[in-house]
Amino acid sequence: MPSLNDALIHVQQQIHIAAKKHGRPEEDIHLLAVSKTQPAETIAAAFALGQTAFGENYLQEAREKQEALAHLPIEWHFIGPIQSNKTREIAEHFSWVHSVDRLKIVTRLSQQRPVHLPPLNICLQVNLDDETSKSGVALQELEQLAIATIQLPNVKLRGLMAIPKKTTDITQQRAAFATLARSLKQLSSIALLDTLSMGMSNDMEAAIAEGATIVRVGSAIFGARKSQ
Ligand SMILES: *Cc1c(COP(=O)(O)O)cnc(C)c1O
Repeated sequence: MPSLNDALIHVQQQIHIAAKKHGRPEEDIHLLAVSKTQPAETIAAAFALGQTAFGENYLQEAREKQEALAHLPIEWHFIGPIQSNKTREIAEHFSWVHSVDRLKIVTRLSQQRPVHLPPLNICLQVNLDDETSKSGVALQELEQLAIATIQLPNVKLRGLMAIPKKTTDITQQRAAFATLARSLKQLSSIALLDTLSMGMSNDMEAAIAEGATIVRVGSAIFGARKSQ
């Protein structure tokens, strides 16, 4: 396995190359290191290498690492499914939430966001594949959820997130991301939105080609996860 330093540099280079190839300004693309299942020491090591934003899926696991790393100015992003009894801790301990897909959750996040903190940055997670089992708001219900979200005082709607169906076909990857990008554009009449959270280790280039501003990368930085 390559060292963390080599892996991180490799991912940064992939972003650089994809940005160049697809005519995107590199500074528009932010790397979110997805650190689920990784120990706090590994996050600290990545932070020492200059990586400042980390994404976590499981609240309890994230909270333990946040406590251990409280001395570091890490920007924490919550990217996993959200149960309503977890919203308070998420509202208190994260800067971003990428996985909002219903009004009840985002209403609670706004109510529970401590007023001394800046508004919680929100991405609405969109279900692009219309499988009833998967999380994400349906495309037909997205505008309504966006309109409701921008009216909440302590959250700031930044954009959209999606996890498209896994495929190695780059044309299919791009088609899914293009749909998300189009949806963001359609919302531009109701709010100024600047974020497309899309692309993971295996479909990062396609996402960048279609306008990703945050790529969420785990295994390409930290190696394959043991469980999941
Ligand atoms: C795990 C995860 C990622 C990272 O996936 P990799 O394939 O390891 O890069 C990105 N986004 C979400 C929502 C995830 O759960």
